[in-house]
Amino acid sequence: MAYAHTIEHAEIVHRCFRCGYCKFPSDYVDFNCPSYKAFGWDTYSPGGRMWLIRAWLNDEIKTSPHFAEILYSCVACDNCKNQCVFPKFRDFLPDIFQEAKAELVNEGRIPPKVRDYFKAIATNGNPYKLPQSERGKWAEGTGLQPYTNQEYLFYAGCVGSYDEVGQKMARSVGKLLANAGVSAGIFGSEEACDGNEVKILGEIGLFTKLAQENIEQFKAKGIKKIITLDPHALNVFKKEYPKLGGIFRVFHYTEILAGLIKEKKLALSDYPAKVTYHDSCYLARHNQIYGPPREILKAIPGIELVEMRRNALNAFCCGGGGGNFFTDILGTGEDSAGRVRVREARETRARIVAVACPSCAKMLSDAVKTEGLEDTLEVLGIAEIIERARAK
Ligand code: SF4
Ligand code: SF4
Repeated sequence: MAYAHTIEHAEIVHRCFRCGYCKFPSDYVDFNCPSYKAFGWDTYSPGGRMWLIRAWLNDEIKTSPHFAEILYSCVACDNCKNQCVFPKFRDFLPDIFQEAKAELVNEGRIPPKVRDYFKAIATNGNPYKLPQSERGKWAEGTGLQPYTNQEYLFYAGCVGSYDEVGQKMARSVGKLLANAGVSAGIFGSEEACDGNEVKILGEIGLFTKLAQENIEQFKAKGIKKIITLDPHALNVFKKEYPKLGGIFRVFHYTEILAGLIKEKKLALSDYPAKVTYHDSCYLARHNQIYGPPREILKAIPGIELVEMRRNALNAFCCGGGGGNFFTDILGTGEDSAGRVRVREARETRARIVAVACPSCAKMLSDAVKTEGLEDTLEVLGIAEIIERARAK
């Protein structure tokens, strides 16, 4: 059989039964694959995507803009990896989709929005096309200092550095770290993109360049421990940088803040509110960090934490993963992930959706506006909620 295209795991693609279990959460009550939920065609589901890739590898279908769009509608949420019934290859599921995207990059057949994203990173160093000199501006007034051999590097990432919602989250974390006396510094205008989305979108050459330059910089400055604002950065630092020789101890900010609260280094007052927590895919399913954000919320007097129907391992993605935060291939239709998720949050009667990821914060904030829920539902970062409990 002649393969016109190549991917690393081509030899196992044919093993998919196309049974379809992978598009559900573990109780099968709803669809948990955001791209299937948004478009409703089987080719947008994980199993359907497997069969589509199989046909493409066998040269039964050709590369086309529609085929590329289907591949790029995967938000790398990892639900299918956890729900696939076939243990022999379930671990490779989102990797296979990423490999197919990488092959499209090699062939130069990617959607224009993906091409524009790569171009912005390669040219400007960030997807917002903003000057590098503005990268550290978010930290003004937080008390955080430039990195000069402190215990931790606090890494804000592109969304935390440039997006208004992300900056708000970064500032809150920065202030709490500084107030609690944590020895942490920032790179500011010397910080560079971590490359997580670049890799997921399939530009392996650009990803390798970014990662190697970051590793070189971290090593040159003597970095041993990193606190990330963004779960996407945590993911790539923990899982991909070691393969390139960059081994660091990496923490998400919620892990550090949960520890500070336990050690009574951050005093908390009463903040009466019903709160639900949205698990970020990159923090939760990808890196199994479920506890610290919940521990923080439970430690705040007055907060009633209520879980959404789908939570932890079964949580529904906000739709911002896999680079969709920037490429917006899922769109904003009624069944787009963010809108589905805020309706689910609303079902709990909580008035705050707590988030631990700047991309989730932005996606869900936008969805709250689209759904007309601004008067009933507020999206807040975990650190912003802590700040409210310290405001009195
Ligand atoms: S990926 Fe796994 S669960 Fe999904 S259709 Fe294929 S075999 Fe079934
Ligand atoms: S990773 Fe998520 S979006 Fe992608 S196919 Fe699997 S369930 Fe769907």
